[in-house]
Amino acid sequence: MEIRYFDHAATTPVREEVIKEMIPYFGVEYGNPSTMYSLGRNAKRAINNSRKQVAKAINSKTKEIYFTSCGSESDNLAIKGFAYANKDKGNHIITSKIEHHAVLDSCKTLERQGFKVTYLNVDENGFINIEELVNAINKDTILISIMLANNEIGTIEPIEEIGLIAKKNNIVFHTDAVQAIGNEKIDIQKLNIDMLSLSGHKFYAPKGVGALYVKEGINFEKIQDGGEQEENKRAGTENVAEIVGLGKAIELIYSEYDEYNKKLKTFRDYFFEQIQRKLGNIKINGDLEKRLPGNANISFDNISGGELLYRLDEKGICASAGSACSTANPMPSHVLTAIGLDAKLAENTLRISFGRDNTKEDIDYLIDTLNQIKSKKM
Ligand SMILES: *Cc1c(COP(=O)(O)O)cnc(C)c1O
Repeated sequence: MEIRYFDHAATTPVREEVIKEMIPYFGVEYGNPSTMYSLGRNAKRAINNSRKQVAKAINSKTKEIYFTSCGSESDNLAIKGFAYANKDKGNHIITSKIEHHAVLDSCKTLERQGFKVTYLNVDENGFINIEELVNAINKDTILISIMLANNEIGTIEPIEEIGLIAKKNNIVFHTDAVQAIGNEKIDIQKLNIDMLSLSGHKFYAPKGVGALYVKEGINFEKIQDGGEQEENKRAGTENVAEIVGLGKAIELIYSEYDEYNKKLKTFRDYFFEQIQRKLGNIKINGDLEKRLPGNANISFDNISGGELLYRLDEKGICASAGSACSTANPMPSHVLTAIGLDAKLAENTLRISFGRDNTKEDIDYLIDTLNQIKSKKM
């Protein structure tokens, strides 16, 4: 059976051009980047080329980019690494209730170690409230961490406003931009972002490689001990091939930004329109305007997400109920709870996330299949 993939928010397939770029570094170019001879220097050069590609995509300096093993590690390094290095300046952190667990759980770890954390509420569309943010700031606040775009409902937060508030109050601003890379144009200078996390496998590079941007002059500590790689901020021999892949993938996705963005938006809006017309009684979660182009999140009145996934899988369709990170967890999604869905509606939720290989025919097939599943239930 043909697979129709609608789970690009969970991960994306690695694109051909990226695989091609990586292959030499799995083979003949096997040098350790920390060595002095030319084989090692080749690897080092490849990593620095990728660093340039990432820096260019977000408008940072090349030396402000640090490679990690994933988006989760970038979040951990940004939040814990910054908090440990700056605890003499204050012990208060502000984040939101709808962050990825890499951010939420890093904050919880810090709370156990004596830090204080404020978890901001969000409204029914998933936006934080700027006034609540301003009121939460106190003399001990050292860090604000608010995601650029939410992985479940696709809502894009008012990042420019948050960046300005952080700057005015002399507070460092970190954003988890893992879902946003490729889907939003991100200029860290214009947006006053001090730290930013990203992950290769959300934009057609492989799983197991990420990056963290940290503005020059901001002090943070390494959280994994060992060698002095990545300017002594991240110990461990670099994943050279995948770092090369990440650099290529970020360059490619931004080189075709307008086309990619338009394609995903067209699919998403067509999906919303058809699903409401053909299925009726469907709740759309998240904001309709300030939303990731490829994200659709909908709740049904009488079918659980688990059952939907099972029925869709029978027809070759990959999608998600809530978030991939919580499929093993029977608790309702913390994001859907935060936007006010009751446990039942949260359980009846399906996330569809479109990608560059989807076709209009795939989407018609998806809509027809959902229609059949729903009709059988009535
Ligand atoms: C996927 C994701 C992460 C985690 O990235 P990994 O590379 O899978 O560790 C973090 N934050 C958000 C918003 C994500 O979507």
